[in-house]
Formats: sequence, C-alpha cells, structure tokens
Amino acid sequence: MALYQRWRRLRLQGLQACRLHTAVVSTPPRRLAERLGLFEELWAAQVKRLASMAQKEPRTIKISLPGDQKIDAVAWNTTPYQLARQISSTLADTAVAAQVNGEPYDLERPLETDSDLRFLTFDSPEGKAVFWHSSTHVLGAAAEQFLGAVLCRGPSTEYGFYHDFFLGKERTIRGSELPVLERICQELTAAAQPFRRLEASRDQLRQLFKAEYARRGFSEVKTPTLFSTKLWEQSGHWEHYQEDMFAVQPPGSDRPPSSQSDDSTRHITDTLALKPMNCPAHCLMFAHRPRSWRELPLRLADFGALHRAEASGSLRGLTRLRCFQQDDAHIFCTTDQLEAEIQSCLDFLRSVYAVLGFSFRLALSTRPSGFLGDPCLWDQAEQVLKQALKEFGEPWDLNSGDGAFYGPKIDVHLHDALGRPHQCGTIQLDFQLPLRFDLQYKGQAGALERPVLIHRAVLGSVERLLGVLAESCGGKWPLWLSPFQVVVIPVGTEQEEYAREAQQSLQAAGLVSDLDADSGLTLSRRIRQAQLAHYNFQFVSAEQKKLFHVDEFALRFPNFLYLQWLARKSKVREQ
Ligand code: ZN
Repeated sequence: MALYQRWRRLRLQGLQACRLHTAVVSTPPRRLAERLGLFEELWAAQVKRLASMAQKEPRTIKISLPGDQKIDAVAWNTTPYQLARQISSTLADTAVAAQVNGEPYDLERPLETDSDLRFLTFDSPEGKAVFWHSSTHVLGAAAEQFLGAVLCRGPSTEYGFYHDFFLGKERTIRGSELPVLERICQELTAAAQPFRRLEASRDQLRQLFKAEYARRGFSEVKTPTLFSTKLWEQSGHWEHYQEDMFAVQPPGSDRPPSSQSDDSTRHITDTLALKPMNCPAHCLMFAHRPRSWRELPLRLADFGALHRAEASGSLRGLTRLRCFQQDDAHIFCTTDQLEAEIQSCLDFLRSVYAVLGFSFRLALSTRPSGFLGDPCLWDQAEQVLKQALKEFGEPWDLNSGDGAFYGPKIDVHLHDALGRPHQCGTIQLDFQLPLRFDLQYKGQAGALERPVLIHRAVLGSVERLLGVLAESCGGKWPLWLSPFQVVVIPVGTEQEEYAREAQQSLQAAGLVSDLDADSGLTLSRRIRQAQLAHYNFQFVSAEQKKLFHVDEFALRFPNFLYLQWLARKSKVREQ
C-alpha cells in the first residue's frame, strides 16, 4: 500500500499549501485505492521475479548498438539506463526510452538476451511519442489526485498530448487550478518518485502461458500428432503403455509390397499411433543435431493435442477426456543446472496458481521398487529435489517409494476456492529417456555428456483445469478469462446503430463483446438471457449519447488496464 500512502502524502503536500482545492475529494476514491493496491502487488511480484531471474542466470549477453558498437551486459540485470550512462552522461540525461529488438523498452527494464539496442531521445519522433505518452499519464495521475477526476482519453498527438477527464456534472477546470495541477505533475516526476511502468493485460489461459514462457526462456514448439510405433518402441511407451494408445493402420498397409512400385507409390507400412505425450518428440528435436553445453538448459514447451484411450466408464466431463492438451514442457539440462531448474519450475507454478487463485500442496515421490538406473544417481537427484523444495519454502509431503520407475517426481495438488484437492501439475526427473534416445551434448571439457530430462506441467490437462476453474467460480468467470465479457443491448431498433458502434469499439479494444439486438424478444427477456449466459457486463443503451470511451471502462476495471504510473525522474519536468 505504499502508493496509497504516497497518494495521501501527495494530496496533503499538493493541497494543504494551496487554497484552491475546492473540488478535492476528501478521501481517495475506492477504485483508485484498489488500483494502487493492485499495482503494488503486481509490482512486488515483478521485482521478485526479476531478482530471481538475475540470481539464476548471471550470464553475459551482447548488446549491439547503432554503428556496429558492441557492449557486454548481464542478463536480467543490466538496464538500458546503465548502458546509456556507460556511454555518456549526456545520453543518460537525454534518453527517454530504448528500442530493444524493435520493441519499446523502459530505461529501467533489465535486458534479457543478446539484443540490438537503440536509444530514443526527444529528438526522434519515436522518442517524442514515448515522452508525450508518459506525460499524459502524469497529467492523468495529477488530475485523479487533485481533482478526483475520472480519466477518459489521453493520447499523445503529433505535437504534444492531451487528456480528457470527467469531473462531475457541469464541472470544468478553473484557470486558477492549473498552477496546482502543474505543481503536482512536478512532484509526481521528482527524483524521489521514480516512474514505474507495469504492463498487466487481459489474457486467456494460453496467452498467460505464452507470456510466462517468453519470460522464462522456453521455446514453444509444435510436434506431429501421429508417429510410427517405432518411435514408441524406442521410448518404451509401446511396451508399457500400448493399451492406452490409439493405433492407426494407414490405408493400403495390409497390401503386400509390389515389386514394381517405386518410392513415390509405395504405401506406408508402419503402424502409426496418436501421441499420448510429447516427450519422445521433444527428444527427437534435441537429438536432430549435435548439441553443446552452451545450449543448455534447453526448454521446449508444447500445447499439442494428446490422445489416450481411456475406458469409456472413466470419462468424465472436462476432467477426463480422450483428447486433451497439456501445458507440457521438457527441460534438457546438466546435473549442475538441475536444482536451479527445479526451483524455477516451482516458482513458475506459484506465480500461475496465484493468478488463478489456487493454493497448492507439494509431495515428493522417491524411488519405487523396480526402479531403473543407477541408485547413486537416484540418491543424488532426490537430494536435489529435497533441497529445491526446502528453499522454495512451502510445506511438502514425502511419498516414499511412489516415484515413477524412470525418476523421482514432485506432484502438485491444487486446492480450488472450495478447498477441494485436484492433482494437476507435476515435475518429474527422467534418467531413462535420455538413455533410450542416446541424447548427448558436448560438455565444457569437450567430452560427450548425457543431459537430464525434466518433464514439467503446471496445469496438467488444460481442459481439466478449466473444469476445476468453472466449478470453482460457479460458471461466473473472472473478467480476464471470461468467454462472454460484455453484451450491448439496445432498448429498441432506434438505438441499434449506436449499440453496434459501442460493441465494435469494445471489440477493437480487445474485449469479447456481443450485440443482442434481437427485437423479437422483449428487453427484459434479453437482459435475463445475458444474466443466464453470465456476461460479466451488460450495457443497456437507452438513448443515443456520446460514445463512452473504452479507456474509461478500462479505468474502472483495472485487470485489463495498462497500469502505467508516474513519470520517470526528471524527464517530464525538464519540459
Ligand atoms: Zn513428458
């Protein structure tokens, strides 16, 4: 709540010294306090995440600057601002933002990988746009705090910026209030109040993962659904898991091979099977060319459809299906990297479950009777998992002898809003698949070494998790996940055109929105229908008024806001 306190402090500083505060609200509006609280929460999570990345991957990266200049930086640590200071103090003072691999970057955002970097100063059109965009946020923040304004539209333009706000019926800004507004802007941008920018967006579940994958160094890959059973023989699935797999006989495969046929007419003779899991395909990807220790850890993520021949009696709603997707990933790493990778899997898990509102309980399963492989390797791996769990700091249980035959594992039982447990995520070590696929990489000393494989899923089956979420929220999806976010309902045919415009404007802003203009039903029926469909919001348009702006909507519902706050240091003040 530090920002909330700052809000109060600023209000006092800005206003008690001044006698013009006739329109000042006596307490901060609740939505503002809530938003600032949310900002602090998200910010703390980001600081923590960055710190853990910096700690885990202290590796040097190459930054290419215009004019073929190259500079070394530390991944997840060095910021564009630090580089600017290395180059010249003038650049550090005049840079407004950076462009990293073509993407706009705040000066304080740590660099993640090898990058092309260009500094944006106020002299360039892009620099001006960033500067003015930030300036509108400062002005907006000052207006919220000083005037209790509801912010509407505030874009940068070709020659500057403006901000529309709503101050209440027939209330406008007085000329005498402008100097105070200006002073608050200056205070907001003073060195003691650094600009903090955070992007929080409304994303569907998969997009949540895509963002996490990008940040955590996973490559998303796609692998075929159908493979020759030879692959499954090699992985051991055919031997142990055949009963649960769908096998496919390709057309003509039962015909005897003709001696005249050449390659182009020859039929497939192999039996094929639908993949029940992605691991063998990922092993093929690892093995398709020589690998070096420099490439590890290699993290491959796959949302591919998996098929399992479940008995019909065991099928149940979304929680057990014959075709489903997993947030499946495989990490190939060295034994030295194991602990850090396990910790980062646990951290990934915690951050995703926090977003979904789940608590969880971890269990470590150790080697069963009939395990395969070297007992020393097992001991060592179980020790690594124990250590990672200990450092993670959440309570965990020991399931002695409950591991898979190929390696020890950590299972995750999540608890939904009603406290019911569901087995979802898993982190499993595997010593066998790297052997079966003869996976190797060239080690630091030049000799070939074998990687360790981690199978890892945070949600497990995406469908099952959706089922759990649907029950847990009683079908009323949180806005950011909802498939029915807004419906616009015109009262009659006269409002239809306006309602359509409003619906399109919401759609363009990235909201899933529908129009219910079915004049065959009464208004109350249409409202009732929308309630039954659990739309998060219904907009009933009665008369044609000025189109509300989506920014105003976003302000009230901060989950899909770009929460951008307070201008950075003295950049704005100089103007
Ligand atoms: Zn796997």
